[in-house]
Amino acid sequence: MEIRILGAHLAEVRGARLTSLLIDSVLVVDAGGVTSALSLPEQKKIETVLLTHHHFDHTRDLVTLAANAGYYWRRQLVVCAQQYTLDMVSGCLLSGKLYTNFFEYPSKEKPTLILEAIEPYGRKAIAGYDVLAMPVKHSAPTVGYQVTSSDGRSLFYTGDTTAGIADCWRHVTPQLLITEVAGPNKYEDWLMKAGHLCPRLLGEELAQFRRLKGYLPRVIIVHIGNPYEQEIKEEVAQVAQELGADISLGYEDMKITL
Ligand SMILES: [Zn+2]
Ligand SMILES: [Zn+2]
Repeated sequence: MEIRILGAHLAEVRGARLTSLLIDSVLVVDAGGVTSALSLPEQKKIETVLLTHHHFDHTRDLVTLAANAGYYWRRQLVVCAQQYTLDMVSGCLLSGKLYTNFFEYPSKEKPTLILEAIEPYGRKAIAGYDVLAMPVKHSAPTVGYQVTSSDGRSLFYTGDTTAGIADCWRHVTPQLLITEVAGPNKYEDWLMKAGHLCPRLLGEELAQFRRLKGYLPRVIIVHIGNPYEQEIKEEVAQVAQELGADISLGYEDMKITL
């Protein structure tokens, strides 16, 4: 399984894109920064977009990706998420009021976008992977995804979450964990209220993972609050040292082979 981090940041600025992952060229998980990261031939290979939640920084490139798919190669794209998320993106971002209605274009019979719901705790075969949706703790209904390839390699991506996700750890057994750190420890209270993690909270969650599972996977951090990146990096390094864990900050176009 090859994972490419298309976007690893909380804000879009030159050199930084919004959170998005690409798995083996075909499966996108969160659509923050997809189209500016990939050439048209690369975009053409995408079969399915999985969404953790509806927030704009995780969904906005659905519009530009659907436009390219609809206008240039007339291929259908499956968007998979929990029903609440699908309702939010189809009712707001993709309602057809701002731009083409990609649920009816080029035709109602064969639209560009097809929606598929996945239940929390549900398992689904998606683009050749076994996908498990696990509820996490965020300010909007959010699920993290364990994606397992046919040769048994697994990653778990939490999406946006704050502390208190031990229930996830009970259900997943990944070789790679991709999670978020939106800000440094000094903003812990605010980050918790907003449904995010700081390095200290991440450390607690990882310690809990190890207690429950007896091991720690490699950890990659995304959704990095851009102005605090250096501070986050130093505090994450501290957590990694305390836990004896392999934790690193993700970056745009980083590739990981599992
Ligand atoms: Zn969010
Ligand atoms: Zn976010």
